[in-house]
Amino acid sequence: MASVLTEKMSFPSATTTMRLFNTLSGETDELVPVDGKELRMYACGPTVYDYGHIGNFRTFLEIDVLRRFLKLTGTPLRHVMNITDVDDKIIRNSAAAGVPIGEYTAKYVNAFFEDLDALRVERPEVIARATETIDRMVELIQKLAEAGAAYRTEDGSWYFRIKSFPEYGKLSKKDLSGMEDGARVDVDEYEKDSARDFALWKAAKPGETSWETPIGRGRPGWHIECSAMSMKFLGDSFDLHAGGEDLMFPHHENEIAQSESVTHKPLAKHWMHVRFLLVDGKKMSKSEGNFFTLRDLLLKGYKASAIRLALISVPYRHQLNFTFDGLADATAAIDRLRTFYDRLMKGAFPAGENSEVQEAAKKARDAYFAALANDLNTAEARAPIFELVRLSNTAMDQGKFQQEDREAVKAVLADFDAVFAVIEDRDTGPTQRAVEWAKAEGREEDVAPELLAVGLTDEAIKALLAERDQAKKRRDFARADQIRKELTQRGILIEDSKDGVRWKRK
Ligand SMILES: [Zn+2]
Repeated sequence: MASVLTEKMSFPSATTTMRLFNTLSGETDELVPVDGKELRMYACGPTVYDYGHIGNFRTFLEIDVLRRFLKLTGTPLRHVMNITDVDDKIIRNSAAAGVPIGEYTAKYVNAFFEDLDALRVERPEVIARATETIDRMVELIQKLAEAGAAYRTEDGSWYFRIKSFPEYGKLSKKDLSGMEDGARVDVDEYEKDSARDFALWKAAKPGETSWETPIGRGRPGWHIECSAMSMKFLGDSFDLHAGGEDLMFPHHENEIAQSESVTHKPLAKHWMHVRFLLVDGKKMSKSEGNFFTLRDLLLKGYKASAIRLALISVPYRHQLNFTFDGLADATAAIDRLRTFYDRLMKGAFPAGENSEVQEAAKKARDAYFAALANDLNTAEARAPIFELVRLSNTAMDQGKFQQEDREAVKAVLADFDAVFAVIEDRDTGPTQRAVEWAKAEGREEDVAPELLAVGLTDEAIKALLAERDQAKKRRDFARADQIRKELTQRGILIEDSKDGVRWKRK
Protein backbone atom coordinates (compact mmCIF):
# COMPACT_ATOMS: atom_id res chain seq x y z
CA MET A 1 0.00 0.00 0.00
CA ALA A 2 2.80 2.42 0.91
CA SER A 3 4.47 2.31 -2.45
CA VAL A 4 1.28 3.07 -4.33
CA LEU A 5 0.31 6.10 -2.31
CA THR A 6 3.73 7.68 -2.45
CA GLU A 7 3.95 7.43 -6.23
CA LYS A 8 4.23 10.73 -8.04
CA MET A 9 0.96 12.60 -7.73
CA SER A 10 -1.02 13.66 -10.70
CA PHE A 11 -1.85 17.35 -10.86
CA PRO A 12 -5.12 18.96 -11.78
CA SER A 13 -5.26 20.05 -15.39
CA ALA A 14 -6.00 23.69 -14.62
CA THR A 15 -3.65 25.53 -12.30
CA THR A 16 -5.32 25.74 -8.94
CA THR A 17 -5.05 29.17 -7.39
CA MET A 18 -5.14 29.09 -3.67
CA ARG A 19 -7.19 31.65 -1.79
CA LEU A 20 -6.57 32.11 1.90
CA PHE A 21 -8.09 34.46 4.44
CA ASN A 22 -5.65 37.23 5.25
CA THR A 23 -5.97 38.67 8.76
CA LEU A 24 -4.13 41.81 7.68
CA SER A 25 -6.41 42.71 4.74
CA GLY A 26 -9.50 41.17 6.32
CA GLU A 27 -10.20 39.44 3.00
CA THR A 28 -9.70 36.09 1.34
CA ASP A 29 -6.73 36.87 -0.88
CA GLU A 30 -4.89 34.88 -3.51
CA LEU A 31 -1.79 33.20 -2.15
CA VAL A 32 0.94 33.25 -4.78
CA PRO A 33 4.71 33.79 -4.44
CA VAL A 34 5.50 37.50 -4.81
CA ASP A 35 8.82 36.70 -6.48
CA GLY A 36 7.13 34.29 -8.90
CA LYS A 37 9.44 31.49 -7.76
CA GLU A 38 8.83 30.09 -4.32
CA LEU A 39 6.38 30.83 -1.57
CA ARG A 40 8.26 32.12 1.45
CA MET A 41 6.40 31.46 4.67
CA TYR A 42 7.18 31.71 8.36
CA ALA A 43 5.26 29.87 11.05
CA CYS A 44 5.74 30.48 14.76
CA GLY A 45 7.03 27.27 16.29
CA PRO A 46 6.84 25.92 19.80
CA THR A 47 8.26 27.31 23.01
CA VAL A 48 9.94 24.18 24.27
CA TYR A 49 9.23 24.09 28.01
CA ASP A 50 6.73 21.19 28.07
CA TYR A 51 5.05 18.55 25.89
CA GLY A 52 2.77 19.91 23.18
CA HIS A 53 -0.99 19.73 23.71
CA ILE A 54 -3.61 19.05 21.06
CA GLY A 55 -4.41 22.76 20.77
CA ASN A 56 -0.79 23.44 19.76
CA PHE A 57 -0.85 20.53 17.35
CA ARG A 58 -4.05 21.68 15.70
CA THR A 59 -2.15 24.78 14.60
CA PHE A 60 0.83 22.81 13.29
CA LEU A 61 -1.49 20.36 11.53
CA GLU A 62 -3.50 23.07 9.77
CA ILE A 63 -0.27 24.70 8.61
CA ASP A 64 0.80 21.24 7.40
CA VAL A 65 -2.44 20.99 5.41
CA LEU A 66 -1.62 24.32 3.76
CA ARG A 67 1.95 23.22 3.11
CA ARG A 68 0.95 19.89 1.61
CA PHE A 69 -1.75 21.44 -0.55
CA LEU A 70 0.64 24.06 -1.94
CA LYS A 71 3.07 21.29 -2.81
CA LEU A 72 0.33 19.21 -4.39
CA THR A 73 -0.61 22.10 -6.64
CA GLY A 74 3.01 22.62 -7.66
CA THR A 75 4.02 25.64 -5.58
CA PRO A 76 7.68 25.54 -4.45
CA LEU A 77 8.01 26.41 -0.79
CA ARG A 78 10.51 27.87 1.59
CA HIS A 79 8.89 27.34 4.96
CA VAL A 80 10.69 28.47 8.10
CA MET A 81 9.67 27.47 11.61
CA ASN A 82 11.37 28.67 14.74
CA ILE A 83 12.05 26.94 18.00
CA THR A 84 11.77 29.34 20.91
CA ASP A 85 14.39 27.83 23.18
CA VAL A 86 14.82 30.80 25.50
CA ASP A 87 11.96 32.69 27.17
CA ASP A 88 10.58 33.50 30.64
CA LYS A 89 9.07 30.06 31.25
CA ILE A 90 12.13 28.16 30.04
CA ILE A 91 14.40 30.21 32.27
CA ARG A 92 12.08 29.74 35.24
CA ASN A 93 11.60 25.98 34.72
CA SER A 94 15.23 25.16 34.00
CA ALA A 95 16.30 27.10 37.10
CA ALA A 96 13.74 25.15 39.16
CA ALA A 97 15.08 21.89 37.71
CA GLY A 98 18.66 23.02 38.34
CA VAL A 99 19.87 22.40 34.77
CA PRO A 100 21.19 24.68 32.01
CA ILE A 101 18.48 25.83 29.56
CA GLY A 102 20.01 23.84 26.68
CA GLU A 103 19.72 20.64 28.64
CA TYR A 104 16.23 21.50 29.82
CA THR A 105 14.89 22.27 26.33
CA ALA A 106 16.62 19.37 24.50
CA LYS A 107 14.14 16.88 25.94
CA TYR A 108 11.14 18.90 24.75
CA VAL A 109 12.65 19.70 21.36
CA ASN A 110 13.07 15.96 20.73
CA ALA A 111 9.58 15.22 22.02
CA PHE A 112 8.12 17.92 19.76
CA PHE A 113 9.67 16.44 16.62
CA GLU A 114 8.67 12.94 17.63
CA ASP A 115 5.09 14.19 18.03
CA LEU A 116 5.16 15.95 14.65
CA ASP A 117 6.38 12.71 13.05
CA ALA A 118 3.62 10.75 14.78
CA LEU A 119 1.06 13.15 13.33
CA ARG A 120 2.82 13.08 9.95
CA VAL A 121 3.43 16.82 9.98
CA GLU A 122 6.11 17.50 7.37
CA ARG A 123 9.31 19.25 8.36
CA PRO A 124 9.70 22.84 7.15
CA GLU A 125 12.65 23.59 4.89
CA VAL A 126 14.32 25.59 7.67
CA ILE A 127 14.16 25.19 11.43
CA ALA A 128 15.61 28.19 13.21
CA ARG A 129 16.58 28.29 16.87
CA ALA A 130 16.37 31.45 18.93
CA THR A 131 19.58 30.76 20.85
CA GLU A 132 21.45 30.50 17.54
CA THR A 133 20.17 33.83 16.23
CA ILE A 134 21.06 36.18 19.12
CA ASP A 135 23.46 38.27 16.99
CA ARG A 136 20.67 39.10 14.52
CA MET A 137 18.38 40.16 17.37
CA VAL A 138 21.04 42.45 18.78
CA GLU A 139 21.60 44.02 15.34
CA LEU A 140 17.89 44.63 14.96
CA ILE A 141 17.66 46.29 18.38
CA GLN A 142 20.61 48.52 17.49
CA LYS A 143 18.85 49.59 14.28
CA LEU A 144 15.65 50.24 16.23
CA ALA A 145 17.59 52.41 18.66
CA GLU A 146 19.12 54.37 15.76
CA ALA A 147 15.63 54.89 14.34
CA GLY A 148 14.36 56.16 17.68
CA ALA A 149 12.03 53.20 18.14
CA ALA A 150 13.91 51.57 21.01
CA TYR A 151 15.15 52.94 24.31
CA ARG A 152 17.25 51.66 27.15
CA THR A 153 16.05 51.71 30.74
CA GLU A 154 18.18 52.20 33.83
CA ASP A 155 18.63 48.50 34.53
CA GLY A 156 20.09 47.95 31.04
CA SER A 157 16.97 46.51 29.39
CA TRP A 158 15.70 47.72 26.00
CA TYR A 159 12.10 48.50 25.12
CA PHE A 160 10.20 49.18 21.91
CA ARG A 161 8.50 52.56 21.86
CA ILE A 162 4.97 51.94 20.60
CA LYS A 163 4.34 55.64 19.98
CA SER A 164 7.06 55.57 17.31
CA PHE A 165 4.98 53.21 15.17
CA PRO A 166 1.61 54.80 14.35
CA GLU A 167 0.39 51.68 12.51
CA TYR A 168 0.55 49.61 15.68
CA GLY A 169 -2.67 47.59 15.89
CA LYS A 170 -3.18 47.21 12.11
CA LEU A 171 -3.11 43.41 12.24
CA SER A 172 -5.33 42.75 15.26
CA LYS A 173 -7.56 45.78 14.47
CA LYS A 174 -7.51 46.79 18.08
CA ASP A 175 -8.42 50.32 19.01
CA LEU A 176 -5.34 51.46 20.83
CA SER A 177 -6.14 55.16 20.88
CA GLY A 178 -6.02 55.32 24.65
CA MET A 179 -2.57 53.88 24.92
CA GLU A 180 -0.23 55.36 27.39
CA ASP A 181 3.15 56.51 26.21
CA GLY A 182 5.94 54.94 28.23
CA ALA A 183 3.82 52.31 30.02
CA ARG A 184 5.96 49.23 29.92
CA VAL A 185 5.60 45.49 30.11
CA ASP A 186 8.50 43.10 30.44
CA VAL A 187 6.79 39.71 30.43
CA ASP A 188 6.79 37.81 27.13
CA GLU A 189 3.05 37.26 27.10
CA TYR A 190 0.40 39.75 28.10
CA GLU A 191 -3.28 39.68 27.49
CA LYS A 192 -4.41 43.24 28.10
CA ASP A 193 -5.90 45.03 25.15
CA SER A 194 -3.89 48.10 25.90
CA ALA A 195 -0.64 48.59 24.07
CA ARG A 196 2.48 48.80 26.15
CA ASP A 197 6.09 49.37 25.32
CA PHE A 198 7.44 45.85 25.33
CA ALA A 199 10.83 44.40 26.19
CA LEU A 200 13.22 43.78 23.31
CA TRP A 201 16.12 42.86 25.52
CA LYS A 202 16.08 42.02 29.21
CA ALA A 203 19.11 42.91 31.29
CA ALA A 204 20.76 39.93 32.97
CA LYS A 205 19.53 39.06 36.43
CA PRO A 206 21.71 37.04 38.81
CA GLY A 207 21.56 33.34 38.05
CA GLU A 208 19.74 33.76 34.73
CA THR A 209 21.02 32.65 31.35
CA SER A 210 22.40 35.65 29.48
CA TRP A 211 24.58 36.71 26.56
CA GLU A 212 27.32 39.36 26.53
CA THR A 213 26.56 41.65 23.56
CA PRO A 214 27.22 45.20 22.30
CA ILE A 215 23.87 46.30 23.79
CA GLY A 216 24.74 44.86 27.18
CA ARG A 217 24.54 41.58 28.99
CA GLY A 218 21.11 40.02 28.86
CA ARG A 219 18.69 37.93 26.86
CA PRO A 220 16.15 38.61 24.10
CA GLY A 221 12.43 39.20 24.54
CA TRP A 222 10.21 36.66 22.80
CA HIS A 223 8.88 38.98 20.07
CA ILE A 224 12.25 40.10 18.72
CA GLU A 225 13.22 36.45 18.27
CA CYS A 226 10.65 35.89 15.52
CA SER A 227 11.42 39.18 13.75
CA ALA A 228 15.11 38.31 13.61
CA MET A 229 14.63 34.70 12.56
CA SER A 230 12.01 35.33 9.89
CA MET A 231 14.00 38.12 8.22
CA LYS A 232 17.27 36.17 8.45
CA PHE A 233 15.89 33.27 6.44
CA LEU A 234 13.21 34.92 4.28
CA GLY A 235 14.33 38.51 3.77
CA ASP A 236 12.76 41.81 4.88
CA SER A 237 9.42 41.06 3.26
CA PHE A 238 7.92 37.66 2.56
CA ASP A 239 4.68 36.01 1.43
CA LEU A 240 2.99 34.50 4.47
CA HIS A 241 3.24 34.51 8.24
CA ALA A 242 1.21 31.90 10.14
CA GLY A 243 0.46 30.98 13.73
CA GLY A 244 -2.23 30.27 16.29
CA GLU A 245 -4.91 32.94 16.85
CA ASP A 246 -3.56 33.60 20.35
CA LEU A 247 -0.37 34.95 18.77
CA MET A 248 -2.10 37.68 16.79
CA PHE A 249 -1.89 40.12 19.69
CA PRO A 250 0.54 41.09 20.96
CA HIS A 251 3.14 38.74 19.46
CA HIS A 252 2.50 39.27 15.75
CA GLU A 253 1.58 42.91 16.19
CA ASN A 254 4.95 43.37 17.93
CA GLU A 255 6.80 41.48 15.20
CA ILE A 256 5.33 43.86 12.61
CA ALA A 257 6.26 46.92 14.66
CA GLN A 258 9.84 45.76 15.23
CA SER A 259 10.52 44.72 11.66
CA GLU A 260 8.72 47.45 9.77
CA SER A 261 10.21 50.24 11.91
CA VAL A 262 13.59 49.22 10.48
CA THR A 263 12.77 48.06 6.95
CA HIS A 264 9.75 50.27 6.11
CA LYS A 265 8.44 47.29 4.12
CA PRO A 266 5.57 44.97 5.01
CA LEU A 267 7.01 42.09 7.04
CA ALA A 268 4.55 39.64 5.50
CA LYS A 269 1.94 40.20 2.81
CA HIS A 270 -0.41 37.54 4.12
CA TRP A 271 -1.21 36.55 7.73
CA MET A 272 -2.89 33.25 8.60
CA HIS A 273 -4.31 32.53 12.06
CA VAL A 274 -5.56 29.13 13.16
CA ARG A 275 -8.42 29.17 15.68
CA PHE A 276 -8.13 27.51 19.00
CA LEU A 277 -9.99 24.35 19.88
CA LEU A 278 -12.41 23.55 22.66
CA VAL A 279 -12.51 20.18 24.41
CA ASP A 280 -16.03 19.01 25.25
CA GLY A 281 -17.25 22.55 24.64
CA LYS A 282 -14.86 24.12 27.11
CA LYS A 283 -11.54 25.85 26.96
CA MET A 284 -8.86 23.24 27.52
CA SER A 285 -7.30 23.56 30.96
CA LYS A 286 -5.52 21.34 33.43
CA SER A 287 -7.95 22.28 36.21
CA GLU A 288 -10.99 21.29 34.09
CA GLY A 289 -9.46 17.85 33.51
CA ASN A 290 -9.87 18.29 29.74
CA PHE A 291 -6.23 18.99 28.96
CA PHE A 292 -4.57 16.51 26.60
CA THR A 293 -1.13 16.19 25.13
CA LEU A 294 -0.74 14.07 22.00
CA ARG A 295 0.90 11.43 24.19
CA ASP A 296 -2.08 11.29 26.54
CA LEU A 297 -4.32 10.32 23.62
CA LEU A 298 -1.91 7.78 22.14
CA LEU A 299 -1.66 6.09 25.55
CA LYS A 300 -5.45 5.86 25.70
CA GLY A 301 -5.25 3.74 22.57
CA TYR A 302 -6.27 6.30 19.92
CA LYS A 303 -4.35 6.05 16.67
CA ALA A 304 -2.17 8.93 15.51
CA SER A 305 -4.01 8.99 12.17
CA ALA A 306 -7.39 9.39 13.90
CA ILE A 307 -6.04 12.26 15.99
CA ARG A 308 -4.70 13.89 12.82
CA LEU A 309 -8.01 13.50 10.99
CA ALA A 310 -10.07 14.74 13.95
CA LEU A 311 -7.88 17.84 14.28
CA ILE A 312 -7.89 18.79 10.57
CA SER A 313 -11.45 17.93 9.53
CA VAL A 314 -12.84 21.23 10.79
CA PRO A 315 -11.56 24.14 8.65
CA TYR A 316 -8.83 26.13 10.36
CA ARG A 317 -10.84 29.32 10.84
CA HIS A 318 -13.65 27.51 12.63
CA GLN A 319 -13.64 26.59 16.26
CA LEU A 320 -13.13 22.86 16.62
CA ASN A 321 -14.89 21.14 19.49
CA PHE A 322 -12.70 18.16 20.24
CA THR A 323 -14.54 15.19 21.79
CA PHE A 324 -13.91 11.47 22.22
CA ASP A 325 -16.97 10.81 20.05
CA GLY A 326 -15.31 12.86 17.34
CA LEU A 327 -12.16 10.81 17.72
CA ALA A 328 -14.19 7.59 17.43
CA ASP A 329 -15.81 8.97 14.24
CA ALA A 330 -12.38 9.75 12.82
CA THR A 331 -11.22 6.23 13.66
CA ALA A 332 -14.25 4.75 11.87
CA ALA A 333 -13.74 7.02 8.86
CA ILE A 334 -10.13 5.89 8.51
CA ASP A 335 -11.15 2.24 8.81
CA ARG A 336 -13.63 2.80 6.01
CA LEU A 337 -10.98 4.38 3.78
CA ARG A 338 -8.36 1.71 4.50
CA THR A 339 -10.78 -1.17 4.02
CA PHE A 340 -11.88 0.30 0.72
CA TYR A 341 -8.32 0.90 -0.41
CA ASP A 342 -7.50 -2.70 0.29
CA ARG A 343 -10.50 -3.86 -1.69
CA LEU A 344 -9.57 -1.52 -4.53
CA MET A 345 -6.04 -2.87 -4.75
CA LYS A 346 -6.78 -6.55 -4.25
CA GLY A 347 -10.08 -6.89 -6.07
CA ALA A 348 -10.30 -8.71 -9.41
CA PHE A 349 -12.30 -6.51 -11.75
CA PRO A 350 -13.36 -7.12 -15.36
CA ALA A 351 -11.48 -5.27 -18.11
CA GLY A 352 -12.76 -1.91 -19.28
CA GLU A 353 -14.16 1.14 -17.59
CA ASN A 354 -17.50 2.18 -16.14
CA SER A 355 -18.36 5.69 -17.29
CA GLU A 356 -20.34 6.37 -14.13
CA VAL A 357 -17.34 5.63 -11.89
CA GLN A 358 -15.01 7.57 -14.20
CA GLU A 359 -17.30 10.58 -14.07
CA ALA A 360 -17.67 10.33 -10.28
CA ALA A 361 -13.88 10.17 -9.84
CA LYS A 362 -13.39 13.26 -11.94
CA LYS A 363 -16.10 15.16 -10.07
CA ALA A 364 -14.72 14.12 -6.68
CA ARG A 365 -11.27 15.27 -7.63
CA ASP A 366 -12.45 18.66 -8.89
CA ALA A 367 -14.58 19.22 -5.81
CA TYR A 368 -11.69 18.21 -3.55
CA PHE A 369 -9.23 20.65 -5.14
CA ALA A 370 -11.80 23.44 -5.27
CA ALA A 371 -12.62 23.08 -1.56
CA LEU A 372 -9.00 23.19 -0.44
CA ALA A 373 -8.23 26.08 -2.79
CA ASN A 374 -11.11 27.92 -1.15
CA ASP A 375 -9.47 28.92 2.13
CA LEU A 376 -8.53 25.30 2.96
CA ASN A 377 -12.04 24.03 3.50
CA THR A 378 -11.07 20.58 4.75
CA ALA A 379 -14.64 19.63 5.67
CA GLU A 380 -15.87 20.26 2.14
CA ALA A 381 -12.77 18.61 0.70
CA ARG A 382 -13.24 15.26 2.42
CA ALA A 383 -16.94 14.91 1.65
CA PRO A 384 -16.59 14.07 -2.10
CA ILE A 385 -13.87 11.53 -1.31
CA PHE A 386 -16.14 9.60 1.05
CA GLU A 387 -18.92 9.88 -1.52
CA LEU A 388 -16.63 8.36 -4.18
CA VAL A 389 -15.77 5.51 -1.80
CA ARG A 390 -19.46 4.83 -1.22
CA LEU A 391 -20.27 4.89 -4.94
CA SER A 392 -17.30 2.65 -5.80
CA ASN A 393 -18.21 0.13 -3.11
CA THR A 394 -21.71 -0.08 -4.52
CA ALA A 395 -20.35 -0.55 -8.04
CA MET A 396 -18.06 -3.33 -6.77
CA ASP A 397 -20.96 -5.02 -4.95
CA GLN A 398 -22.93 -5.00 -8.21
CA GLY A 399 -19.99 -6.25 -10.30
CA LYS A 400 -19.94 -3.00 -12.24
CA PHE A 401 -16.52 -1.75 -11.16
CA GLN A 402 -13.90 -2.30 -13.86
CA GLN A 403 -10.13 -2.44 -14.13
CA GLU A 404 -9.62 1.08 -15.44
CA ASP A 405 -11.82 2.47 -12.70
CA ARG A 406 -9.21 1.27 -10.26
CA GLU A 407 -6.61 3.63 -11.71
CA ALA A 408 -9.00 6.56 -11.73
CA VAL A 409 -10.12 6.09 -8.13
CA LYS A 410 -6.60 5.32 -6.94
CA ALA A 411 -5.36 8.64 -8.37
CA VAL A 412 -8.05 10.55 -6.46
CA LEU A 413 -7.16 8.78 -3.21
CA ALA A 414 -3.48 9.58 -3.78
CA ASP A 415 -4.30 13.28 -4.06
CA PHE A 416 -6.42 13.02 -0.94
CA ASP A 417 -3.69 11.31 1.03
CA ALA A 418 -1.06 13.77 -0.17
CA VAL A 419 -2.78 16.31 2.11
CA PHE A 420 -4.82 14.33 4.66
CA ALA A 421 -2.16 11.61 5.11
CA VAL A 422 -4.34 9.03 6.85
CA ILE A 423 -4.93 6.17 4.39
CA GLU A 424 -1.43 4.82 4.48
CA ASP A 425 -1.16 3.03 7.82
CA ARG A 426 1.79 4.28 9.85
CA ASP A 427 0.09 4.04 13.23
CA THR A 428 2.06 1.28 14.94
CA GLY A 429 5.32 3.18 15.39
CA PRO A 430 3.90 6.22 17.21
CA THR A 431 1.85 4.07 19.58
CA GLN A 432 4.81 1.85 20.41
CA ARG A 433 7.05 4.86 20.99
CA ALA A 434 4.45 6.44 23.28
CA VAL A 435 4.24 3.24 25.34
CA GLU A 436 8.05 3.03 25.62
CA TRP A 437 8.11 6.68 26.67
CA ALA A 438 5.42 6.10 29.32
CA LYS A 439 7.44 3.22 30.75
CA ALA A 440 10.60 5.33 30.86
CA GLU A 441 8.69 8.19 32.53
CA GLY A 442 7.04 5.93 35.12
CA ARG A 443 3.60 6.57 33.62
CA GLU A 444 2.68 2.96 32.92
CA GLU A 445 -0.62 3.39 34.76
CA ASP A 446 -1.77 5.79 32.04
CA VAL A 447 -1.33 3.19 29.31
CA ALA A 448 -4.44 1.45 27.99
CA PRO A 449 -4.15 -2.28 28.84
CA GLU A 450 -4.57 -3.39 25.25
CA LEU A 451 -1.47 -1.40 24.33
CA LEU A 452 0.67 -3.05 26.99
CA ALA A 453 -0.38 -6.48 25.76
CA VAL A 454 1.14 -5.53 22.41
CA GLY A 455 4.54 -7.17 22.21
CA LEU A 456 3.84 -9.68 24.99
CA THR A 457 4.13 -13.01 23.19
CA ASP A 458 2.18 -16.16 24.08
CA GLU A 459 5.50 -17.70 25.21
CA ALA A 460 6.18 -14.79 27.54
CA ILE A 461 2.68 -15.08 29.01
CA LYS A 462 3.06 -18.85 29.52
CA ALA A 463 6.45 -18.35 31.17
CA LEU A 464 4.97 -15.83 33.61
CA LEU A 465 2.08 -18.19 34.39
CA ALA A 466 4.51 -21.05 35.04
CA GLU A 467 6.48 -18.80 37.38
CA ARG A 468 3.25 -17.89 39.16
CA ASP A 469 2.45 -21.59 39.56
CA GLN A 470 5.87 -22.23 41.09
CA ALA A 471 5.47 -19.29 43.45
CA LYS A 472 2.11 -20.63 44.64
CA LYS A 473 3.61 -24.07 45.24
CA ARG A 474 6.28 -22.61 47.47
CA ARG A 475 3.57 -20.47 49.14
CA ASP A 476 5.11 -17.20 47.89
CA PHE A 477 1.68 -15.62 47.43
CA ALA A 478 3.10 -12.12 47.22
CA ARG A 479 5.03 -13.00 44.08
CA ALA A 480 2.06 -14.91 42.62
CA ASP A 481 -0.20 -11.89 43.14
CA GLN A 482 2.38 -9.58 41.67
CA ILE A 483 2.53 -11.63 38.47
CA ARG A 484 -1.24 -11.73 38.23
CA LYS A 485 -1.41 -7.98 38.67
CA GLU A 486 1.25 -7.37 36.05
CA LEU A 487 -0.54 -9.56 33.51
CA THR A 488 -3.88 -7.89 34.24
CA GLN A 489 -2.30 -4.47 33.73
CA ARG A 490 -1.02 -5.65 30.38
CA GLY A 491 -4.47 -6.72 29.28
CA ILE A 492 -4.26 -10.45 29.99
CA LEU A 493 -7.24 -11.99 31.76
CA ILE A 494 -6.44 -14.99 33.97
CA GLU A 495 -8.93 -17.54 35.18
CA ASP A 496 -7.97 -20.30 37.62
CA SER A 497 -9.92 -23.51 37.14
CA LYS A 498 -9.56 -27.05 38.35
CA ASP A 499 -7.99 -27.96 34.99
CA GLY A 500 -5.31 -25.36 35.53
CA VAL A 501 -5.05 -21.71 34.56
CA ARG A 502 -6.73 -20.29 31.48
CA TRP A 503 -5.86 -16.95 29.99
CA LYS A 504 -6.93 -14.67 27.19
CA ARG A 505 -6.16 -11.24 25.87
CA LYS A 506 -8.70 -8.55 26.70
ZN1 LIG B 1 6.60 33.99 16.65
